[in-house]
Amino acid sequence: MSKGTKVPGYMQGKGSRNPRGIIGDREIRYKCSLQNTILDVLRGRPGWQEVPGQNNVQQNVQTNAKQQGTTPQSSKSGQQTSGQPSSNTGKAGDGDWDFYWCDREWLAQNYDTMFLYEHQKILHFRNHYELTRKNLMVKNLKRLKKQTEREQGKAEGLSFEFFPTTYELPSEYHIFVEEFKKNPGIIWIMKPAARAQGRGIFLFRRLKDITDWKKGEYQPLSDPNREVPETYVVQRYIENPYLIGGRKFDVRVYVLVVSYNPLKVWLYRSGFARFSNTRFSLDSIEDTYVHLTNVAVQKNAPDYDPDKGCKWSTQQLRKYLAAKHGVEAVKKAFKGIDNIIIKSLQSVQKIIINDKHCFEMYGYDVLFDSDLKPWLIEINASPSLTASGKEDYDLKFGLLNDLLNVLDLENRLTGKEKRIGGWDLLWEDGPILADDGNMECTPNGTTASIPNSFLGCHNDRKRQLRELYTAAQSIKKS
Ligand code: ADP
Repeated sequence: MSKGTKVPGYMQGKGSRNPRGIIGDREIRYKCSLQNTILDVLRGRPGWQEVPGQNNVQQNVQTNAKQQGTTPQSSKSGQQTSGQPSSNTGKAGDGDWDFYWCDREWLAQNYDTMFLYEHQKILHFRNHYELTRKNLMVKNLKRLKKQTEREQGKAEGLSFEFFPTTYELPSEYHIFVEEFKKNPGIIWIMKPAARAQGRGIFLFRRLKDITDWKKGEYQPLSDPNREVPETYVVQRYIENPYLIGGRKFDVRVYVLVVSYNPLKVWLYRSGFARFSNTRFSLDSIEDTYVHLTNVAVQKNAPDYDPDKGCKWSTQQLRKYLAAKHGVEAVKKAFKGIDNIIIKSLQSVQKIIINDKHCFEMYGYDVLFDSDLKPWLIEINASPSLTASGKEDYDLKFGLLNDLLNVLDLENRLTGKEKRIGGWDLLWEDGPILADDGNMECTPNGTTASIPNSFLGCHNDRKRQLRELYTAAQSIKKS
C-alpha cells in the first residue's frame, strides 16, 4: 500500500474528527521496557492494557509486511506510512501496540526498519543524542549562538551565555590548552561525553593533572592494542554555586517535546533540587560528595541519611528563594530557565528527525550561581523514574500520568489546552502567554503578557484535570 493511501477504519489527517481512528473505541495497548514508576502508571491507567511479550516489534514488522505483501517503510519522514495495522484485528499480540515506552537502545536498533501506524506513539526521537550527549549539546548550542550573532547581532548572542565554556577532548585539546593558559588558577571539570550519574568525572586546576590522565587514557599511536579514546568534555567549573545551608544543589526540570516541527514544548511545574551532602568548599576539589550533586553519587556518602535524603521540591526551592530575594528576582531566575529550554531545543530543531509518532521527556539539570543566574549542566533523555521515597514517587507518578494526559491517546481533550495537570504549554512555534494567571507566582495579579511558565508554582493537578475534562467534554458535545 502506498504512502497516504486511506485505510478503512482509520480517519487520517488534521481535518478528520478523530485522527486517532479506532483507538477511541477500544482499550489502548502499551508496551514498556522499564520496571519502575512508568509501569505503575501505565498499569493503573483505566482502559489501558499491557501487551504481553518482549520487545519484539521487529518481528511484527516482518509479519505485517508479509501479510500485506509490502516492504515496511521507514517512519523517518514522519508521514503516514501504510498498511492495515494488525491492531485492527483487536488482538493484543506481540508488538501490537499503540504506545511504547521503549529504551533508547531499542529505538536505535529498530527505528530505521520499523514502520508506524497513524496513531502509534513511541518514546524518544531517533537522534535524541544531539541534545543529550554532552559534547553534541555544546556543539549545537555554539552553532546556534554563532548564527544568532551573525544574523541578529552580538547582543542577541548574549542570551546564549548559559552554558559554561566547554571543549571536546581529544579533538579540541589544543584550543582548550590555549584557553586554559589565558585563565590561570581557575577550576575545570572533566566529564565523559556519553556517561551518566557522575561516573568518570573529576575536577582539576593544573594542566599536569590532565596530561597525566591523558597519558593513561590515550595509548601511543604505535600501540597495536590501542583503543579509540573515549570522548570527554572539559568544562569551566562553576566556582560560585548558589548555596543553601552551605551546600550546593542543582535543579531537575522536566520538559516534554511532542513535536520539533513546529516546536511544541511543555514544562512541568514540579521537580526537585538535589543537594550535595557535604558543605561546599573549593579546598577539596577531589571530593565528589562536595562537588557532584547526583543522587547516585550522594547516596554513597558516608554520612548520607536515606530518610532525610538530599532533595527539595522545586516548590520549596521557589518559596525559599522568593522569601530571601523577592518574587521579581525569582521570576527573573526562572525565566532564565525557560530561555535555556527553548534555546537548547532550537539548537537541534533542524537536526532532530522529526517524527509525529515520537515524543521525548527530557530531564534538564540546571545549576544556579550565587547571582541566581541559571546554568545548563546537561540534558537527559532518560531521566530517572525510579523513586527515592514517597514524595518522589508521587511526583513521578503525577508527572508521567500527566504526560499521558498531554499525549491524550484517549482523545478526551480539545487539543487547544495550555495547561494539562502539571504541564504548562511553554512554546508552540513561539512563546505561549498565560491567560489564567497564577496568583502564587504573579502576586500583582497582572496576567497580560505573562509567559505560560509556572516552574515551582502550586501544582493542583488533580483539581485542574477534573475541571479540564469537564470543560473539554462540554466543548466536544457542542
Ligand atoms: P552526569 O551525566 O554524569 O550526571 P553532569 O554533567 O550532570 O554529569 O555532572 C554531574 C554533576 O556535576 C552535576 O549534577 C553538577 O552537580 C556537577 N557539575 C557538572 N558540571 C559542572 C560545572 N560546569 N560546574 C559546576 N558543577 C558541575
